[in-house]
Amino acid sequence: MKVIVLGAGVIGTTTAWYLARAGHDVEVVERREGPGLETSYANGGQVSVCHAEPWAGPGAPLKILKWLMRDDAPLLFRLRMDPAQWSWGLRFLLECTAWRARENTAQILAMAFHGRRMLQELRAETGIEYEQSTRGILHYYTEPAEFEAACEAAAYMRRYGLDRTVKSVAEAVAIEPALASAASRIVGATYTPSDESGDAYLFTANLAKMCEAKGVRFHFGREIRGLRAAAKEGVAGVVVAGPGGQETIAGDAYVVALGAYSPLLTRPLGLDLPIYPAKGYSATLAVADPGKAPSVSLTDDEAKIVISRLGGRLRIAGTAELSGWSTDLNAVRCEALVKRARSMFPDACDWERPEYWAGLRPSTPSNVPLVGATRLPNLWLNTGHGTLGWTMACGSAAALAELMSGRRPGVEFAFTR
Ligand SMILES: Cc1cc2nc3c(=O)[nH]c(=O)nc-3n(C[C@H](O)[C@H](O)[C@H](O)COP(=O)(O)OP(=O)(O)OC[C@H]3O[C@@H](n4cnc5c(N)ncnc54)[C@H](O)[C@@H]3O)c2cc1C
Repeated sequence: MKVIVLGAGVIGTTTAWYLARAGHDVEVVERREGPGLETSYANGGQVSVCHAEPWAGPGAPLKILKWLMRDDAPLLFRLRMDPAQWSWGLRFLLECTAWRARENTAQILAMAFHGRRMLQELRAETGIEYEQSTRGILHYYTEPAEFEAACEAAAYMRRYGLDRTVKSVAEAVAIEPALASAASRIVGATYTPSDESGDAYLFTANLAKMCEAKGVRFHFGREIRGLRAAAKEGVAGVVVAGPGGQETIAGDAYVVALGAYSPLLTRPLGLDLPIYPAKGYSATLAVADPGKAPSVSLTDDEAKIVISRLGGRLRIAGTAELSGWSTDLNAVRCEALVKRARSMFPDACDWERPEYWAGLRPSTPSNVPLVGATRLPNLWLNTGHGTLGWTMACGSAAALAELMSGRRPGVEFAFTR
């Protein structure tokens, strides 16, 4: 079957890989000049099953209300005259009951576990390199109430087989000695040794090369203008604009992997995808003293930031802002990332030269991605991965390739339709 994958982020590129591996003829359409240049470019780097808790939970509405006026809030709604934002916000509120939060955590855990497992298999099979580290993820807490809640979350996740255990401050410092200088501020930690980290962009770029070697054709620099509807099959072609003008690229099936832009292209076909962009920021800095910079990937709970060592660089990422599709950098939010990390690891980096970046998480109200069929027979979805797209990428792509090949996927998950 000839499959056209729309978008070459980490999701589109892994989709192309697993479809090609299953024997399909694959083409990928991407507006940028290469793969992985939008949200998959400079994310937090964590392959973190331990981050399976969705944003929507019983405590979320109150926290968000408290943060509404704070420019440096970890999760910020900038209210706009945008029906898509309001509708997303209402659906988010519906996901905030304890029951929905538990259901969503179970779904996210299933796909995140599968994603990590498939990534490990892919690495073993191909030897792909992406500044990866397999030293686990350590969450540290500076607020006793948050630490207490985390102990409960860790116990819940252990029931699903995740090795997330509670650690004392001394144990946390033994796992990551660079924390020693900040030990007096920490009240406790949890550690998930099976989690990993790595550069999602390097992974995507290297996997795209491996896809090409398998016969996948990438059409870079092609802006998708719309999907042409067909009477019976669903989609008849993708209308794209490129250097040579407008053309239609056609296949037997189509996969939407357009990240935060997915709903904009499916809406004219009558498919209303509950995805809204949640802008996040990162700062990447050169490591000045390797002994003083963390080498275990960290999550700073109070600041809601993650810190990952990518070879000779340190990546600090976090914050979420629901404010539309702009990727403009907000100085306050950028500087808050560096200020917090610097206060924890003062001698780790050359703090004066951060490289700032912003990306749009394709977020669903439940944080559960949309993977599977649609009511249009030849149109499939692999999108809406929100905070965990890098973690889930190989899992959701492998599962979708199985579904599209008429086989049972290797994960129990609520696929679309
Ligand atoms: C600050 C931050 C930190 C994060 N940290 C982590 C983390 O630590 N771990 C983790 O698992 N996840 C993390 N994420 C989430 C993760 O980065 C995303 O879920 C993931 O990158 C989404 O991948 P994607 O392929 O769906 O989207 P994208 O990477 O955005 O890919 C979509 C592609 O579609 C293309 N496209 C869109 N519209 C069109 C069009 N009209 N025509 C042609 N092409 C088009 C875009 O150019 C883009 O290349 C983080 C995100 C952010 C913002």
